[in-house]
Amino acid sequence: MQTKSPVIIIGGGPAGLAAAHQCLSLKMQPIVFEMNNLVGGISRTEVYKDYLFDIGGHRFFTRMENIDRLWQEMMGDDFLTVSRRSRIFYQGRLYDYPLKATNALLNLGIIESLLIIASYLKAQVCPLTPEANFEQWVANRFGWRLYRTFFKTYTEKVWGMPCDQIQAAWAAQRIKGLSLKSAVINAMFGGGTAKSLIDSFKYPRKGPGMMWERFKDHIEHNNGSVLLNSKTESLRHENGRIIAMTYRDTADELHTMPVEQMISSIPVSRLIKLLDPAPPAEVLAAADTLSYRSFLIVGLIINKKGLFPDQWLYIHSPEVKVGRIQNFGNWSAAMVPDPDKSSIGMEYFCTIGDTLWQTADADLIKMASAELTKLGLLDQAEIIDGTVIRQPLAYPVYDAGYNKNLLIIREFLATIGNLQTIGRNGMHRYNNMDHSMQTGIMAAKNVNGAQYNLWTINEEDSYLEAETPTLAKSTLVTKLLSRSFARMDEVAFATATGTLAGLVLFLATIWLLIRGGDNVGQHLKLIGQYFIGYSVTMEGAFIALAYAFFSGFLFGWSLAYLRNLFLTLYLYQIKKKNEMMSLKDLMDQL
Ligand SMILES: Cc1cc2nc3c(=O)[nH]c(=O)nc-3n(C[C@H](O)[C@H](O)[C@H](O)COP(=O)(O)OP(=O)(O)OC[C@H]3O[C@@H](n4cnc5c(N)ncnc54)[C@H](O)[C@@H]3O)c2cc1C
Repeated sequence: MQTKSPVIIIGGGPAGLAAAHQCLSLKMQPIVFEMNNLVGGISRTEVYKDYLFDIGGHRFFTRMENIDRLWQEMMGDDFLTVSRRSRIFYQGRLYDYPLKATNALLNLGIIESLLIIASYLKAQVCPLTPEANFEQWVANRFGWRLYRTFFKTYTEKVWGMPCDQIQAAWAAQRIKGLSLKSAVINAMFGGGTAKSLIDSFKYPRKGPGMMWERFKDHIEHNNGSVLLNSKTESLRHENGRIIAMTYRDTADELHTMPVEQMISSIPVSRLIKLLDPAPPAEVLAAADTLSYRSFLIVGLIINKKGLFPDQWLYIHSPEVKVGRIQNFGNWSAAMVPDPDKSSIGMEYFCTIGDTLWQTADADLIKMASAELTKLGLLDQAEIIDGTVIRQPLAYPVYDAGYNKNLLIIREFLATIGNLQTIGRNGMHRYNNMDHSMQTGIMAAKNVNGAQYNLWTINEEDSYLEAETPTLAKSTLVTKLLSRSFARMDEVAFATATGTLAGLVLFLATIWLLIRGGDNVGQHLKLIGQYFIGYSVTMEGAFIALAYAFFSGFLFGWSLAYLRNLFLTLYLYQIKKKNEMMSLKDLMDQL
């Protein structure tokens, strides 16, 4: 794949910019085409009257050392460490999230708390089978009552459908938590190494867009280009290669340029539609079925400081449409230009074309202001201004057919040798910024001759191992552990111990017989007190063989059984502890 011509990168979001950055490190020239007037994609920062608005509140957190390093290099002292504070608003009360026992107890009351514990225990004893949907998936792990209290309404707001219609497979895929393997390693080696978003995260002083502006500057200072307001309109392909790209520039003029190597972070369903000639009908149909959840923020400027101490609140109350409320000043003070004021982001999850999406901005601002008052969080008179930011295609949806259709698209795209798709929507994968960037970095390396399979990123641990030696070491430990933790076959072990015991006693008896003497086997014959009929004779040797085999068998079987039982209980306890850990950031992963 090596190239001397510029590498054409579509999309100036985290994935595209990371790809361009990597191209420069490999001495290749990147040109990034971004249709928006600023970089960052879903992770951009919008500005309204000097107030900075993040599209959802982007926490910078990664387990990938290379990405962590890159972020730190780009931001230097402007990369703040923020201590997380978030709560759930439910029935007029605020609950700490991650849930804290005393806070939940005080808010829920003793009776409801006991009912939640009883419902949890019931779920452990009689889980629902088969575990077909998200509702059952959560209820099986945490109990129905906890699920209904804290997870149902918010999840339904995010996905716009009842939880019993969301597939359990989605939950299993998305809510990965810590694998049992990592949990065992942590438990055995003093763990706790698994960092998480729970307690703190990094954040650029002026919002996530500041990071991407720094990437843009770096690219432009190093002979690369980032062209804003430049929308890719079509891609001409021939003999399994993209040969030309047509794009619309700032002046609304169309240009066509030759293509040697292309990396695209355009939503893959849209990319398919840009191809000329058009792909087969089956591929177009598959692209049409990929669906997305969109998102809008009503940004409100409030004539008051210190509204609440959290960075954000989850709003469970079904009587309002808002799903989450961001308090940007608590992410970074620099997000709010006037220290006597505040800015908040009322987040609404929607689908392009639905009523919410089509509501006029002025009406959305009115609605959001009224909801804030209804929740009792603010007096409407304190809201002095507002703006609306829309984010189409914010969440790729994992519905029943998405995997099959994505595979059809992937198979077709694999026939175009010089085109790689990267990023969140580029791969229709629920990637965060770090995994999106990683796909871009690997794609750039592929242009330079490497052969990474981008589809394994955020799917397997293996690609991480290549990047981070500490994890590679843990894999060796894992292999050793999985051998030691394998179930012991009781009968096989019992047969071995029985045979060994039988043979030892048999041979000891025979040996004493052969040695002979006045009083043959005076010590050994004491065994006869336990093994009735045993004596140090030829006949006794066979009786010993039978007795010792039987006793050894019993001993071996019990040992193996107890060891397996202990191991099962140990793993069960780790699994449960692990599940309870994932309860702590379940809301973050929805
Ligand atoms: C509400 C919300 C909260 C989130 N919070 C977090 C978080 O806390 N932490 C985290 O790590 N991640 C978070 N994410 C995920 C994060 O936003 C994405 O992982 C990341 O932005 C994906 O980067 P990307 O480059 O793949 O795609 P995008 O950000 O979508 O960028 C793609 C770019 O391509 C451009 N483009 C599209 N079509 C064309 C075209 N035809 N021509 C030219 N340009 C085009 C778009 O304008 C866009 O700029 C969140 C996402 C959402 C929706």
